[in-house]
Amino acid sequence: MSLRIEHITVRYGQTTAVDDVSLDIADGEVVALLGPSGCGKSTLLRTVAGLEKADDGEVRWDGDDLTGTPVHERGFGLVFQDGQLFPHRDVAGNVAFGLRMAKVDKEVRLKRIDELLELVGLDGYQHRKVTQLSGGEQQRVALARALAPQPRLLLLDEPLSALDRALREQLAVDLARLLREAGATALVVTHDHDEAFTLADRVAIMRKGKIRQVGPPAEVWREPADVETAKFLGCNKFVPGSFVGLANDRVGLRASALRVDPAGTLEGVVLERVHRRDHVRLLVEIDGDEYEAVGPVTEIGDRVRLVVEQDGLAVLRDEPHGGQ
Ligand code: ADP
Ligand code: MG
Repeated sequence: MSLRIEHITVRYGQTTAVDDVSLDIADGEVVALLGPSGCGKSTLLRTVAGLEKADDGEVRWDGDDLTGTPVHERGFGLVFQDGQLFPHRDVAGNVAFGLRMAKVDKEVRLKRIDELLELVGLDGYQHRKVTQLSGGEQQRVALARALAPQPRLLLLDEPLSALDRALREQLAVDLARLLREAGATALVVTHDHDEAFTLADRVAIMRKGKIRQVGPPAEVWREPADVETAKFLGCNKFVPGSFVGLANDRVGLRASALRVDPAGTLEGVVLERVHRRDHVRLLVEIDGDEYEAVGPVTEIGDRVRLVVEQDGLAVLRDEPHGGQ
């Protein structure tokens, strides 16, 4: 029970949207495909679904090449950014869709709908009109509909991107739990690293049509494969490892890497400060160079000590010295 993407290339005229990509997804694994807009994520997902034809390479399930298998015979469940629910059907009617296609008995169908609505937190919503649901509720229905026929693989393309930030963060946590509870094998496309790291067992970083790195979230966060990946994951300054007390050649700093604390070993002068929702962001001069840091409140011109927050660091193992 596993998916294998082998050397897939997809071109649109002169554009190579997906460039020789290989990736495996194991049974029960959730893999996030993470990268900036336009890097080829949706094209790859659509190719796996069978909605797009590869110019080269194969998509295999348990070793079988799926090239000749149409979308509806692949046994994959699909969820898109905007849900794409049937507006004229109620919630139950939407969730039942795949079950009716599979000619599942009515009694079994109704039981399965109840189970799924409970799973996605919409118990009792069976007869609501989908047009009267919030965006978050609609995405839950889309997910229940995709899960109903027990797909062997779930493909989700930016399932939370249309929602506002607070809801997105909450739903990402719910979705992570839900995928685990359903035992789903899934490929989730997203451009948001928080979302990817909340959801996935492994993260695949994509850029310009290629997968640049694959690994567990903590590993990718801590050790990006290259400077471009580190930048995409929030690093905006690169320093020798010795600056933060690490022997490694080079370290990327995120905005949260340095924090004002009297116990710190680094010393600097506050140049600027900006109040954010729940913290103060500072620009600090250390040894003649400028760095971002986080508060507590200090005055411009104050001398401060700074500690290094490990979560704010990325270690670049194989990068040459110097340059940015
Ligand atoms: P992402 O999902 O990462 O934002 P896409 O896979 O949608 O990226 O697009 C990758 C590249 O392929 C982009 O340059 C995009 O403009 C191009 N592209 C995607 N779909 C088509 C299409 N149907 N026709 C022509 N170009 C396309
Ligand atoms: Mg896309």
